Amino acid sequence: MKSMHELSVPVPTKRSLVVRSNKEVSMKQREYALKETEYSMFSFPADMLVLDFLSDSGSSSMTDLQWASLFHGDESYGRNKGYYVLLDAIRDTFERGNEPQKAINLILSGETNVEKLMDELYLKSHEGGFVNGGIHQLARPNAFLVPQGRCAEHLLFSTIAPILKDRNPDIEYYIPNNGHFDTTEANIAANGMHPVNLFSVNLFEDFPSDQMSAKNPFKGNMDSKELEAFIEDKGVESVPLIYLTITNNTAAGQPVSLKNIKTISEIARNYEIPLFFDACRFAENAYFIKEFEEEYRNYSVVEIVKEMFSYADGFTISFKKDGLANIGGGMFFRDQGTFYKKFSDNGNIGIKLKEKQILTFGNDSYGGLSGRAIMTITVGLYEIVKEQYLRERIRLVREFALKLSKNGVPVVLPAGGHAVYINVEKFFEGTEMKIDDFGGVGFTIELLKHYGIRACELGPFAFEWDKKTPEQRKGILNLVRFAIPRNVYESSHIDYAVAAVTELYNNRERIPKVKISRGANLRLRHFQSGLEPIYNSQ
Ligand SMILES: *Cc1c(COP(=O)(O)O)cnc(C)c1O
Repeated sequence: MKSMHELSVPVPTKRSLVVRSNKEVSMKQREYALKETEYSMFSFPADMLVLDFLSDSGSSSMTDLQWASLFHGDESYGRNKGYYVLLDAIRDTFERGNEPQKAINLILSGETNVEKLMDELYLKSHEGGFVNGGIHQLARPNAFLVPQGRCAEHLLFSTIAPILKDRNPDIEYYIPNNGHFDTTEANIAANGMHPVNLFSVNLFEDFPSDQMSAKNPFKGNMDSKELEAFIEDKGVESVPLIYLTITNNTAAGQPVSLKNIKTISEIARNYEIPLFFDACRFAENAYFIKEFEEEYRNYSVVEIVKEMFSYADGFTISFKKDGLANIGGGMFFRDQGTFYKKFSDNGNIGIKLKEKQILTFGNDSYGGLSGRAIMTITVGLYEIVKEQYLRERIRLVREFALKLSKNGVPVVLPAGGHAVYINVEKFFEGTEMKIDDFGGVGFTIELLKHYGIRACELGPFAFEWDKKTPEQRKGILNLVRFAIPRNVYESSHIDYAVAAVTELYNNRERIPKVKISRGANLRLRHFQSGLEPIYNSQ
Protein backbone atom coordinates (compact mmCIF):
# COMPACT_ATOMS: atom_id res chain seq x y z
CA MET A 1 0.00 0.00 0.00
CA LYS A 2 1.21 3.53 -0.79
CA SER A 3 2.22 5.76 2.10
CA MET A 4 0.30 9.01 2.64
CA HIS A 5 2.98 11.05 0.87
CA GLU A 6 2.95 8.75 -2.15
CA LEU A 7 -0.69 9.44 -2.96
CA SER A 8 -1.12 11.68 -6.00
CA VAL A 9 -2.76 14.42 -3.92
CA PRO A 10 -1.17 16.63 -1.26
CA VAL A 11 -1.72 15.74 2.39
CA PRO A 12 -3.94 18.39 4.06
CA THR A 13 -1.93 20.53 6.45
CA LYS A 14 -4.63 22.44 8.31
CA ARG A 15 -8.31 22.79 9.13
CA SER A 16 -10.29 26.03 8.96
CA LEU A 17 -12.42 26.64 12.01
CA VAL A 18 -13.73 30.10 11.20
CA VAL A 19 -15.62 30.92 8.01
CA ARG A 20 -16.50 34.15 6.23
CA SER A 21 -19.14 33.83 3.54
CA ASN A 22 -18.94 35.68 0.24
CA LYS A 23 -21.83 37.91 -0.73
CA GLU A 24 -23.73 37.15 -3.93
CA VAL A 25 -23.06 40.15 -6.14
CA SER A 26 -24.25 40.53 -9.75
CA MET A 27 -22.12 41.70 -12.65
CA LYS A 28 -24.34 44.75 -12.96
CA GLN A 29 -23.67 45.68 -9.33
CA ARG A 30 -19.92 45.25 -9.81
CA GLU A 31 -20.04 47.31 -12.99
CA TYR A 32 -21.78 50.13 -11.17
CA ALA A 33 -19.36 49.98 -8.26
CA LEU A 34 -16.39 50.05 -10.66
CA LYS A 35 -17.70 53.17 -12.35
CA GLU A 36 -18.35 54.89 -9.04
CA THR A 37 -14.79 54.14 -7.87
CA GLU A 38 -13.08 55.35 -11.07
CA TYR A 39 -12.11 51.78 -12.02
CA SER A 40 -9.38 51.82 -9.39
CA MET A 41 -8.67 48.35 -7.97
CA PHE A 42 -7.64 49.89 -4.67
CA SER A 43 -10.96 51.70 -4.25
CA PHE A 44 -13.35 48.83 -5.00
CA PRO A 45 -15.30 47.61 -1.91
CA ALA A 46 -13.64 44.35 -0.79
CA ASP A 47 -16.90 43.03 0.63
CA MET A 48 -18.28 42.73 -2.93
CA LEU A 49 -15.49 40.43 -4.17
CA VAL A 50 -15.39 36.69 -4.72
CA LEU A 51 -11.58 36.44 -4.57
CA ASP A 52 -9.13 39.12 -3.57
CA PHE A 53 -5.60 38.85 -4.95
CA LEU A 54 -4.81 42.56 -4.64
CA SER A 55 -2.19 41.91 -1.99
CA ASP A 56 -0.88 39.29 0.40
CA SER A 57 0.00 42.15 2.74
CA GLY A 58 -1.72 41.88 6.10
CA SER A 59 -4.50 39.89 4.42
CA SER A 60 -3.48 36.42 5.63
CA SER A 61 -5.37 34.40 8.24
CA MET A 62 -3.78 34.26 11.65
CA THR A 63 -3.34 30.90 13.36
CA ASP A 64 -5.13 29.82 16.54
CA LEU A 65 -1.91 30.46 18.49
CA GLN A 66 -1.81 34.03 17.18
CA TRP A 67 -5.45 34.69 18.03
CA ALA A 68 -4.83 33.31 21.52
CA SER A 69 -1.86 35.65 22.00
CA LEU A 70 -4.09 38.70 21.56
CA PHE A 71 -5.24 38.33 25.15
CA HIS A 72 -1.67 38.77 26.35
CA GLY A 73 -1.46 42.15 24.61
CA ASP A 74 -0.18 44.81 26.98
CA GLU A 75 -1.31 48.32 26.03
CA SER A 76 1.05 50.17 28.38
CA TYR A 77 2.65 53.31 26.97
CA GLY A 78 6.20 52.54 28.09
CA ARG A 79 7.87 49.11 27.82
CA ASN A 80 4.89 46.84 27.34
CA LYS A 81 5.57 43.12 27.87
CA GLY A 82 5.27 42.43 24.17
CA TYR A 83 8.15 44.75 23.31
CA TYR A 84 10.61 42.50 25.11
CA VAL A 85 9.34 39.25 23.69
CA LEU A 86 9.16 40.65 20.16
CA LEU A 87 12.76 41.86 20.27
CA ASP A 88 13.82 38.48 21.59
CA ALA A 89 11.81 36.76 18.84
CA ILE A 90 13.72 38.89 16.30
CA ARG A 91 16.95 37.49 17.75
CA ASP A 92 15.52 33.96 17.71
CA THR A 93 14.44 34.29 14.11
CA PHE A 94 17.38 36.06 12.52
CA GLU A 95 20.29 35.09 14.75
CA ARG A 96 19.70 31.90 16.68
CA GLY A 97 18.78 29.31 14.03
CA ASN A 98 18.12 25.91 15.58
CA GLU A 99 18.49 27.27 19.10
CA PRO A 100 15.63 29.67 19.75
CA GLN A 101 15.12 30.72 23.35
CA LYS A 102 11.40 31.50 23.02
CA ALA A 103 11.26 34.08 25.79
CA ILE A 104 7.62 34.54 24.76
CA ASN A 105 6.80 31.39 26.73
CA LEU A 106 7.55 33.30 29.94
CA ILE A 107 4.61 35.55 29.10
CA LEU A 108 2.26 32.96 27.61
CA SER A 109 2.76 30.66 30.62
CA GLY A 110 2.19 33.46 33.14
CA GLU A 111 5.63 33.23 34.77
CA THR A 112 5.49 34.81 38.25
CA ASN A 113 9.15 34.51 39.25
CA VAL A 114 10.11 38.17 39.08
CA GLU A 115 13.86 37.53 39.40
CA LYS A 116 13.64 35.22 36.39
CA LEU A 117 11.63 37.77 34.41
CA MET A 118 14.15 40.51 35.18
CA ASP A 119 17.18 38.33 34.39
CA GLU A 120 15.88 36.67 31.28
CA LEU A 121 13.68 39.35 29.78
CA TYR A 122 13.14 42.82 31.15
CA LEU A 123 16.63 43.87 32.14
CA LYS A 124 18.81 41.47 30.20
CA SER A 125 21.75 43.33 28.77
CA HIS A 126 23.50 42.32 25.54
CA GLU A 127 25.02 43.93 22.47
CA GLY A 128 26.57 43.23 19.10
CA GLY A 129 23.67 41.85 17.01
CA PHE A 130 20.53 43.21 15.34
CA VAL A 131 18.93 43.92 18.73
CA ASN A 132 20.82 45.45 21.61
CA GLY A 133 19.38 44.61 25.02
CA GLY A 134 18.92 46.44 28.30
CA ILE A 135 21.08 49.50 28.75
CA HIS A 136 22.69 49.06 25.31
CA GLN A 137 19.38 49.59 23.48
CA LEU A 138 19.14 52.93 25.29
CA ALA A 139 22.70 54.03 24.55
CA ARG A 140 22.94 52.58 21.04
CA PRO A 141 19.43 51.94 19.72
CA ASN A 142 19.37 49.60 16.72
CA ALA A 143 15.85 48.09 16.76
CA PHE A 144 12.87 50.17 15.66
CA LEU A 145 9.21 49.16 15.60
CA VAL A 146 6.91 51.00 13.19
CA PRO A 147 3.37 50.51 11.86
CA GLN A 148 4.42 48.91 8.57
CA GLY A 149 7.26 48.34 6.10
CA ARG A 150 7.10 51.67 4.29
CA CYS A 151 7.37 53.49 7.63
CA ALA A 152 10.67 51.69 8.19
CA GLU A 153 11.75 52.81 4.70
CA HIS A 154 10.72 56.38 5.44
CA LEU A 155 12.54 56.26 8.77
CA LEU A 156 15.73 55.01 7.13
CA PHE A 157 15.85 57.17 4.01
CA SER A 158 14.61 60.39 5.55
CA THR A 159 17.27 60.03 8.27
CA ILE A 160 20.24 59.23 6.03
CA ALA A 161 19.39 61.71 3.23
CA PRO A 162 20.31 64.86 5.24
CA ILE A 163 23.45 63.15 6.54
CA LEU A 164 24.53 62.44 2.96
CA LYS A 165 23.62 65.92 1.74
CA ASP A 166 25.67 67.32 4.61
CA ARG A 167 28.60 65.14 3.72
CA ASN A 168 28.64 66.09 0.06
CA PRO A 169 25.89 68.32 -1.34
CA ASP A 170 27.26 68.20 -4.88
CA ILE A 171 26.86 64.56 -5.83
CA GLU A 172 23.88 62.38 -6.72
CA TYR A 173 23.15 59.34 -4.54
CA TYR A 174 22.01 55.98 -5.89
CA ILE A 175 20.52 52.99 -4.07
CA PRO A 176 20.85 49.80 -6.15
CA ASN A 177 18.49 46.88 -5.53
CA ASN A 178 17.70 43.55 -7.17
CA GLY A 179 14.22 45.09 -7.56
CA HIS A 180 12.88 47.98 -5.52
CA PHE A 181 9.36 47.58 -4.21
CA ASP A 182 7.16 50.55 -5.19
CA THR A 183 7.15 52.14 -1.73
CA THR A 184 10.91 51.66 -1.35
CA GLU A 185 11.49 53.31 -4.69
CA ALA A 186 9.15 56.18 -3.79
CA ASN A 187 10.72 56.72 -0.37
CA ILE A 188 14.19 56.90 -1.89
CA ALA A 189 13.05 59.33 -4.61
CA ALA A 190 11.06 61.45 -2.15
CA ASN A 191 14.30 61.96 -0.23
CA GLY A 192 16.23 63.16 -3.24
CA MET A 193 18.10 59.94 -4.06
CA HIS A 194 17.90 57.62 -7.06
CA PRO A 195 16.55 54.06 -6.88
CA VAL A 196 18.18 51.65 -9.35
CA ASN A 197 17.03 48.14 -10.31
CA LEU A 198 19.66 45.55 -11.22
CA PHE A 199 17.45 42.61 -12.18
CA SER A 200 18.88 39.18 -12.82
CA VAL A 201 19.62 38.68 -16.53
CA ASN A 202 17.67 35.41 -16.62
CA LEU A 203 14.43 36.96 -15.36
CA PHE A 204 12.52 36.45 -18.59
CA GLU A 205 14.18 33.27 -19.76
CA ASP A 206 11.68 30.54 -20.51
CA PHE A 207 11.21 27.89 -17.88
CA PRO A 208 9.44 24.55 -18.44
CA SER A 209 6.34 24.38 -16.24
CA ASP A 210 6.82 20.67 -15.52
CA GLN A 211 10.20 21.41 -13.89
CA MET A 212 8.84 23.68 -11.16
CA SER A 213 9.20 21.12 -8.40
CA ALA A 214 12.58 19.94 -9.66
CA LYS A 215 14.71 23.05 -10.00
CA ASN A 216 14.80 26.81 -9.64
CA PRO A 217 16.98 29.40 -11.41
CA PHE A 218 16.63 32.02 -8.63
CA LYS A 219 15.52 34.73 -11.00
CA GLY A 220 15.21 37.15 -8.05
CA ASN A 221 19.00 37.49 -7.78
CA MET A 222 20.81 40.77 -8.22
CA ASP A 223 23.05 41.06 -11.26
CA SER A 224 26.38 41.18 -9.42
CA LYS A 225 28.43 42.15 -12.49
CA GLU A 226 26.13 45.09 -13.11
CA LEU A 227 26.44 46.06 -9.46
CA GLU A 228 30.21 46.21 -9.61
CA ALA A 229 30.14 48.09 -12.91
CA PHE A 230 27.58 50.49 -11.46
CA ILE A 231 29.66 51.27 -8.36
CA GLU A 232 32.77 51.76 -10.50
CA ASP A 233 30.86 54.03 -12.86
CA LYS A 234 29.18 56.26 -10.26
CA GLY A 235 31.93 56.10 -7.64
CA VAL A 236 31.74 54.48 -4.19
CA GLU A 237 30.78 57.75 -2.57
CA SER A 238 27.59 57.89 -4.65
CA VAL A 239 26.36 54.49 -3.45
CA PRO A 240 25.61 54.84 0.28
CA LEU A 241 23.66 51.60 0.61
CA ILE A 242 23.00 48.38 -1.31
CA TYR A 243 19.58 46.76 -0.97
CA LEU A 244 18.54 43.16 -1.57
CA THR A 245 14.84 42.35 -1.59
CA ILE A 246 14.01 38.80 -0.50
CA THR A 247 11.93 37.54 -2.18
CA ASN A 248 12.04 39.94 -5.11
CA ASN A 249 8.44 41.14 -5.23
CA THR A 250 8.94 43.52 -8.17
CA ALA A 251 10.69 40.79 -10.18
CA ALA A 252 7.69 38.48 -10.08
CA GLY A 253 8.23 37.36 -6.48
CA GLN A 254 11.28 35.30 -7.44
CA PRO A 255 13.67 34.09 -4.73
CA VAL A 256 17.28 35.11 -4.17
CA SER A 257 19.87 32.35 -3.71
CA LEU A 258 22.24 32.21 -0.77
CA LYS A 259 25.03 32.12 -3.31
CA ASN A 260 23.88 35.49 -4.65
CA ILE A 261 23.50 36.89 -1.13
CA LYS A 262 27.11 35.89 -0.42
CA THR A 263 28.39 37.39 -3.67
CA ILE A 264 26.59 40.69 -3.15
CA SER A 265 27.74 40.88 0.47
CA GLU A 266 31.33 40.32 -0.65
CA ILE A 267 31.08 43.19 -3.13
CA ALA A 268 29.48 45.38 -0.47
CA ARG A 269 32.22 44.51 1.99
CA ASN A 270 35.00 45.22 -0.51
CA TYR A 271 33.64 48.70 -1.10
CA GLU A 272 32.63 49.12 2.55
CA ILE A 273 29.05 49.83 1.57
CA PRO A 274 26.40 48.61 4.05
CA LEU A 275 24.17 45.82 2.71
CA PHE A 276 20.51 46.00 3.75
CA PHE A 277 17.80 43.43 3.15
CA ASP A 278 14.23 44.32 2.37
CA ALA A 279 13.30 41.26 4.39
CA CYS A 280 9.60 41.01 3.50
CA ARG A 281 9.06 37.27 2.81
CA PHE A 282 12.39 36.07 4.17
CA ALA A 283 10.74 32.80 5.27
CA GLU A 284 9.42 31.96 1.80
CA ASN A 285 12.83 32.85 0.36
CA ALA A 286 14.54 30.54 2.87
CA TYR A 287 12.22 27.70 1.86
CA PHE A 288 13.26 28.08 -1.79
CA ILE A 289 16.90 27.90 -0.74
CA LYS A 290 16.24 24.71 1.19
CA GLU A 291 14.34 23.21 -1.70
CA PHE A 292 16.66 24.16 -4.54
CA GLU A 293 20.15 25.02 -3.36
CA GLU A 294 21.90 21.68 -3.11
CA GLU A 295 24.23 22.76 -0.28
CA TYR A 296 21.37 23.70 2.02
CA ARG A 297 19.02 20.77 1.43
CA ASN A 298 19.75 19.34 4.87
CA TYR A 299 19.59 22.64 6.69
CA SER A 300 16.47 23.57 8.61
CA VAL A 301 14.63 26.68 7.41
CA VAL A 302 15.63 28.54 10.58
CA GLU A 303 19.32 27.70 10.07
CA ILE A 304 19.06 29.04 6.51
CA VAL A 305 17.45 32.25 7.77
CA LYS A 306 20.30 32.65 10.25
CA GLU A 307 22.87 32.15 7.51
CA MET A 308 21.10 34.59 5.15
CA PHE A 309 21.03 37.34 7.73
CA SER A 310 24.63 36.79 8.80
CA TYR A 311 25.53 38.59 5.54
CA ALA A 312 23.35 41.67 6.18
CA ASP A 313 24.26 44.88 7.99
CA GLY A 314 20.63 45.61 8.61
CA PHE A 315 17.12 45.20 7.29
CA THR A 316 13.77 46.82 6.92
CA ILE A 317 10.75 44.55 7.13
CA SER A 318 7.00 44.57 6.84
CA PHE A 319 5.43 42.22 9.36
CA LYS A 320 2.37 42.14 7.09
CA LYS A 321 4.18 39.81 4.70
CA ASP A 322 5.06 36.13 4.93
CA GLY A 323 1.77 35.60 6.78
CA LEU A 324 3.41 37.06 9.85
CA ALA A 325 0.61 39.30 11.11
CA ASN A 326 -2.03 41.80 9.97
CA ILE A 327 0.06 44.89 10.74
CA GLY A 328 3.56 45.98 11.72
CA GLY A 329 7.02 46.78 10.45
CA GLY A 330 10.53 47.34 11.68
CA MET A 331 14.08 48.35 11.02
CA PHE A 332 17.13 46.68 12.55
CA PHE A 333 20.85 47.13 12.04
CA ARG A 334 23.96 45.41 13.31
CA ASP A 335 25.36 47.04 16.43
CA GLN A 336 28.52 48.95 15.54
CA GLY A 337 28.57 47.37 12.07
CA THR A 338 29.23 48.98 8.69
CA PHE A 339 25.95 50.90 8.62
CA TYR A 340 26.51 52.27 12.10
CA LYS A 341 30.07 53.32 11.30
CA LYS A 342 29.20 54.84 7.91
CA PHE A 343 26.40 57.02 9.22
CA SER A 344 27.53 57.99 12.71
CA ASP A 345 30.27 60.44 11.64
CA ASN A 346 28.25 63.31 13.04
CA GLY A 347 26.51 61.66 16.00
CA ASN A 348 25.06 58.19 16.71
CA ILE A 349 22.77 57.17 13.81
CA GLY A 350 20.67 55.03 16.17
CA ILE A 351 19.79 58.05 18.31
CA LYS A 352 18.82 60.02 15.18
CA LEU A 353 16.59 57.19 13.99
CA LYS A 354 15.00 56.92 17.41
CA GLU A 355 14.26 60.65 17.49
CA LYS A 356 12.51 60.36 14.15
CA GLN A 357 10.69 57.20 15.24
CA ILE A 358 9.27 58.98 18.30
CA LEU A 359 8.51 62.12 16.29
CA THR A 360 6.63 60.21 13.60
CA PHE A 361 5.29 56.91 14.91
CA GLY A 362 5.28 56.72 18.69
CA ASN A 363 7.36 55.78 21.67
CA ASP A 364 9.97 53.17 20.81
CA SER A 365 8.41 50.22 22.62
CA TYR A 366 5.18 50.30 20.61
CA GLY A 367 6.11 52.29 17.48
CA GLY A 368 2.54 52.97 16.45
CA LEU A 369 1.40 49.39 17.07
CA SER A 370 -1.07 48.13 19.65
CA GLY A 371 0.21 45.75 22.33
CA ARG A 372 -2.15 43.14 20.87
CA ALA A 373 -0.61 43.49 17.41
CA ILE A 374 2.88 43.16 18.90
CA MET A 375 1.91 39.79 20.41
CA THR A 376 0.55 38.46 17.12
CA ILE A 377 3.76 39.47 15.34
CA THR A 378 5.86 37.74 17.98
CA VAL A 379 3.92 34.48 17.73
CA GLY A 380 3.80 34.87 13.95
CA LEU A 381 7.59 34.85 13.72
CA TYR A 382 7.57 31.28 15.04
CA GLU A 383 4.59 30.17 12.94
CA ILE A 384 5.90 31.19 9.53
CA VAL A 385 9.19 29.33 9.65
CA LYS A 386 7.45 25.98 10.19
CA GLU A 387 8.34 23.81 7.24
CA GLN A 388 4.99 22.11 6.91
CA TYR A 389 3.30 25.48 6.60
CA LEU A 390 5.83 26.76 4.05
CA ARG A 391 5.65 23.59 1.97
CA GLU A 392 1.86 23.92 1.54
CA ARG A 393 2.12 27.66 0.96
CA ILE A 394 4.61 27.33 -1.87
CA ARG A 395 2.76 24.32 -3.28
CA LEU A 396 -0.51 26.23 -3.66
CA VAL A 397 1.16 29.15 -5.45
CA ARG A 398 2.84 26.66 -7.77
CA GLU A 399 -0.47 24.91 -8.44
CA PHE A 400 -2.01 28.23 -9.53
CA ALA A 401 0.85 28.99 -11.95
CA LEU A 402 0.89 25.45 -13.32
CA LYS A 403 -2.84 25.37 -14.02
CA LEU A 404 -2.76 28.75 -15.81
CA SER A 405 0.25 27.70 -17.80
CA LYS A 406 -1.43 24.43 -18.85
CA ASN A 407 -4.29 26.52 -20.23
CA GLY A 408 -1.83 28.55 -22.31
CA VAL A 409 -1.93 31.72 -20.21
CA PRO A 410 1.57 33.29 -20.19
CA VAL A 411 2.74 33.40 -16.59
CA VAL A 412 6.22 34.05 -15.26
CA LEU A 413 7.78 30.69 -14.44
CA PRO A 414 8.79 29.26 -12.12
CA ALA A 415 6.18 30.62 -9.71
CA GLY A 416 7.51 32.87 -6.95
CA GLY A 417 6.71 32.58 -3.26
CA HIS A 418 3.66 34.74 -2.75
CA ALA A 419 2.12 35.47 -6.09
CA VAL A 420 1.53 34.44 -9.66
CA TYR A 421 2.38 36.99 -12.34
CA ILE A 422 0.94 37.23 -15.81
CA ASN A 423 3.38 38.39 -18.47
CA VAL A 424 1.22 41.11 -19.98
CA GLU A 425 3.38 41.67 -23.04
CA LYS A 426 2.99 38.02 -24.06
CA PHE A 427 -0.66 38.00 -23.02
CA PHE A 428 -1.47 40.65 -25.65
CA GLU A 429 0.95 39.41 -28.32
CA GLY A 430 -0.67 39.63 -31.74
CA THR A 431 -3.32 42.14 -30.62
CA GLU A 432 -3.33 45.91 -31.09
CA MET A 433 -2.55 46.59 -27.42
CA LYS A 434 0.52 48.80 -26.97
CA ILE A 435 2.45 49.24 -23.73
CA ASP A 436 1.02 52.69 -23.00
CA ASP A 437 -2.54 51.44 -23.56
CA PHE A 438 -2.22 49.88 -20.08
CA GLY A 439 -3.64 46.52 -21.20
CA GLY A 440 -2.76 44.99 -17.84
CA VAL A 441 -5.09 47.48 -16.18
CA GLY A 442 -7.82 46.72 -18.72
CA PHE A 443 -7.42 43.04 -17.87
CA THR A 444 -7.86 43.65 -14.13
CA ILE A 445 -10.98 45.74 -14.77
CA GLU A 446 -12.59 42.99 -16.87
CA LEU A 447 -11.59 40.28 -14.39
CA LEU A 448 -13.26 42.17 -11.59
CA LYS A 449 -16.32 43.11 -13.59
CA HIS A 450 -17.09 39.66 -14.97
CA TYR A 451 -15.87 37.36 -12.21
CA GLY A 452 -15.49 39.36 -8.99
CA ILE A 453 -11.75 38.68 -8.84
CA ARG A 454 -9.34 41.45 -7.91
CA ALA A 455 -5.72 41.46 -9.11
CA CYS A 456 -3.19 44.26 -9.52
CA GLU A 457 -1.25 45.70 -12.43
CA LEU A 458 2.44 46.15 -11.67
CA GLY A 459 3.69 47.50 -14.95
CA PRO A 460 3.64 50.65 -17.08
CA PHE A 461 0.73 52.14 -15.11
CA ALA A 462 2.05 51.48 -11.58
CA PHE A 463 5.65 52.23 -12.51
CA GLU A 464 4.81 55.35 -14.53
CA TRP A 465 6.02 54.43 -18.01
CA ASP A 466 4.70 57.68 -19.52
CA LYS A 467 6.73 59.80 -17.09
CA LYS A 468 10.06 58.05 -17.49
CA THR A 469 13.07 58.38 -19.76
CA PRO A 470 13.91 55.55 -22.19
CA GLU A 471 16.76 54.59 -19.84
CA GLN A 472 14.47 54.42 -16.80
CA ARG A 473 11.88 52.45 -18.76
CA LYS A 474 14.29 49.52 -18.90
CA GLY A 475 13.60 49.01 -15.19
CA ILE A 476 9.87 48.52 -15.78
CA LEU A 477 8.36 45.06 -16.16
CA ASN A 478 4.87 44.62 -17.56
CA LEU A 479 3.04 42.31 -15.17
CA VAL A 480 -0.29 41.66 -13.51
CA ARG A 481 0.08 40.20 -10.04
CA PHE A 482 -2.16 37.74 -8.24
CA ALA A 483 -0.90 37.95 -4.66
CA ILE A 484 -2.20 35.09 -2.58
CA PRO A 485 -3.13 35.70 1.06
CA ARG A 486 -1.85 32.90 3.29
CA ASN A 487 -4.11 30.29 4.85
CA VAL A 488 -7.15 31.88 3.20
CA TYR A 489 -7.57 30.08 -0.13
CA GLU A 490 -7.60 26.42 -1.17
CA SER A 491 -7.50 24.60 -4.50
CA SER A 492 -11.19 25.35 -5.19
CA HIS A 493 -10.48 29.09 -5.11
CA ILE A 494 -7.52 28.60 -7.42
CA ASP A 495 -9.65 26.61 -9.87
CA TYR A 496 -12.23 29.40 -10.07
CA ALA A 497 -9.51 31.99 -10.72
CA VAL A 498 -7.84 29.82 -13.38
CA ALA A 499 -11.15 29.32 -15.20
CA ALA A 500 -11.85 33.07 -15.16
CA VAL A 501 -8.40 34.16 -16.32
CA THR A 502 -8.39 31.53 -19.08
CA GLU A 503 -11.76 32.78 -20.35
CA LEU A 504 -10.41 36.34 -20.51
CA TYR A 505 -7.24 35.16 -22.24
CA ASN A 506 -9.31 33.45 -24.90
CA ASN A 507 -11.21 36.72 -25.42
CA ARG A 508 -8.24 39.04 -25.04
CA GLU A 509 -9.00 41.11 -28.11
CA ARG A 510 -12.09 42.35 -26.25
CA ILE A 511 -10.11 43.72 -23.30
CA PRO A 512 -10.25 47.54 -23.31
CA LYS A 513 -7.39 49.99 -23.49
CA VAL A 514 -7.32 52.28 -20.47
CA LYS A 515 -6.59 55.93 -19.98
CA ILE A 516 -5.80 57.78 -16.80
CA SER A 517 -8.67 60.17 -16.21
CA ARG A 518 -7.39 61.80 -13.02
CA GLY A 519 -4.10 62.11 -11.13
CA ALA A 520 -1.57 60.82 -13.67
CA ASN A 521 1.13 62.85 -11.93
CA LEU A 522 0.46 61.74 -8.36
CA ARG A 523 3.23 59.90 -6.51
CA LEU A 524 2.39 56.18 -6.23
CA ARG A 525 -0.52 56.96 -8.53
CA HIS A 526 -1.83 53.40 -8.82
CA PHE A 527 -3.16 53.71 -5.27
CA GLN A 528 -5.24 56.79 -5.98
CA SER A 529 -5.69 57.97 -9.55
CA GLY A 530 -8.85 57.59 -11.62
CA LEU A 531 -9.09 55.38 -14.74
CA GLU A 532 -11.33 54.96 -17.72
CA PRO A 533 -11.60 51.86 -19.90
CA ILE A 534 -12.13 52.58 -23.59
CA TYR A 535 -14.53 50.02 -25.03
CA ASN A 536 -14.69 49.71 -28.82
CA SER A 537 -18.18 50.59 -29.90
CA GLN A 538 -19.72 47.21 -30.76
C1 LIG B 1 4.98 45.28 1.15
C2 LIG B 1 6.37 45.53 0.90
C3 LIG B 1 7.01 46.65 1.44
C4 LIG B 1 6.27 47.71 2.23
O1 LIG B 1 5.63 47.20 3.35
P1 LIG B 1 4.22 47.78 3.86
O2 LIG B 1 3.98 47.06 5.15
O3 LIG B 1 3.20 47.48 2.82
O4 LIG B 1 4.38 49.23 4.06
C5 LIG B 1 8.34 46.80 1.17
N1 LIG B 1 9.02 45.92 0.43
C6 LIG B 1 8.45 44.83 -0.11
C7 LIG B 1 9.26 43.88 -0.93
C8 LIG B 1 7.10 44.59 0.10
O5 LIG B 1 6.53 43.52 -0.44
